[in-house]
Amino acid sequence: MQLPKPVWPGESIKLQVAFRTKLPRIFARTGWEKNDFFFVGQWFPKLGVLEENGWNCHQFHRSSEFYSDFGVYNVRITVPKRFIVGATGQRVAEESLSDTAKVLTYHAEDVHDFAWTASPEYVVFVDSLYNTRIRLLLLKGHEHFARRHFDAARTAMRYYHDWYGPYPYPVLTIVDTKGRAGGMEYPTLITAGFLFGPYLPEGLRFIENVVIHEFGHQYWYGMVANNEFEEAWLDEGLNTYSETRTLARWHGPVGNLVDLLGVKLSDLELQRMQVQSFPPYDPMKRFAWKFVSNRSYSRNVYSKAVLFLTTLERWFGEKRWLGVMRTYFERWKFKHPHSRDFLAVVNEVTGTDSLNHFYSQVLNEPGYLDYAVDKVTVWKDHRPVGVDFDSTASDSGEAEASQADSASADSTVYWAEVLLHRLGNFQFPVRLLLRFEDGDSLWLNWDGVETWRKFRVKHPARLDYAVIDPDKRVQMDLDFLNNSKTVEPRKRGVRKLTLRWLFWVQSLLHMASFIS
Ligand SMILES: [Zn+2]
Repeated sequence: MQLPKPVWPGESIKLQVAFRTKLPRIFARTGWEKNDFFFVGQWFPKLGVLEENGWNCHQFHRSSEFYSDFGVYNVRITVPKRFIVGATGQRVAEESLSDTAKVLTYHAEDVHDFAWTASPEYVVFVDSLYNTRIRLLLLKGHEHFARRHFDAARTAMRYYHDWYGPYPYPVLTIVDTKGRAGGMEYPTLITAGFLFGPYLPEGLRFIENVVIHEFGHQYWYGMVANNEFEEAWLDEGLNTYSETRTLARWHGPVGNLVDLLGVKLSDLELQRMQVQSFPPYDPMKRFAWKFVSNRSYSRNVYSKAVLFLTTLERWFGEKRWLGVMRTYFERWKFKHPHSRDFLAVVNEVTGTDSLNHFYSQVLNEPGYLDYAVDKVTVWKDHRPVGVDFDSTASDSGEAEASQADSASADSTVYWAEVLLHRLGNFQFPVRLLLRFEDGDSLWLNWDGVETWRKFRVKHPARLDYAVIDPDKRVQMDLDFLNNSKTVEPRKRGVRKLTLRWLFWVQSLLHMASFIS
């Protein structure tokens, strides 16, 4: 829109915009169905965000989410009297307009969008936590799920309160949706739509998953309002990471998403499978509509980001990492941070910038992380006693370590050689554990930069096995099966991806694609 005259710095103007919106039948996140259900999102002309380099106002893209500035909203909604309404913010007035119509007034502060829904089919439930009133609108036939919605919302609100900071708004409205309006976030209003029918066993925590995810967006999107057009990983990634943490804390690390008929799947495992199941076409940070496909978008900005952040949490330790997250939230709430602002907080709070190259790779390069133990070899020492093995010059790429210095002259000594291989393009420090037949163990470190590294070690007992990252801190490592090798061949454990699993995974992938 062109203004008739320029607005100079420091000046302000008042705009009055008349507009009409034609709602579609629900097909994505907004619309109507059968004239008795309305979900009204992305329905008014939004202002862009004024940044250092001017206005940031991308056009509407089907494949992206949004970006706009914080403001105060006063909205009057006229609806038939029999309709129940849920909206961003607090209802501050309700007037009768006629025998059949009413006007509802809503007020919201420090938000950057406004959405609302109306239907006579809603059943209203109310709960509260801290200073927040939680209002739940379920469609008829779904009333029996109310407890599951509230449990999930209250759990997430508690954890986020402790991890990041309080939820500051007086209300949270959770609404059920029809069609494919699915799970979506708006300030103080979230949708937790049903794609599952009226029966959903407790062991399938899809309701919980959607509620936790969309609630989390109140922090990562609602308050910390990065540009979703340009850097969606910052909100979807931090949010999905928080969702996996919440489910793991609530239901334990194993089977926290699916725990039914002996099938157990955690949210984190699901995210790993999502990344493993798709080739690395795109980097994690890219304009939303520039990804090769929607699937590539979601694998990167949701799932790969979860693996990235979980890796950092486990690398730096939970306490220090939560310090990063809390500082980022505190510093950037009600503002518009970029990736560089997040990484600056990471470096500041962790006290190191030694992983900058890795951060840059993950954000800007398509690719993956995978380190393998390619080969282990053991042989008995044949050289005469007295030779100083440790003084042998190392070839580049080789290293020697000795644990046999104190061995007496007549004791047998074994050599072990381990070849490590970097298969992916991402570079990350590698921790290698060697375990010997006498029960001793030895940790070795490699910066992971070259494509391979050979370690040679002498020890009074034979090497039993070598394993990279045995406690699975580096969740970005896409293949854990190649992380270890034994000297003597052992029967391989049953591979996890049985046909039964594949069925579940496919169903879950399908489900997950409806959560925004
Ligand atoms: Zn989301």
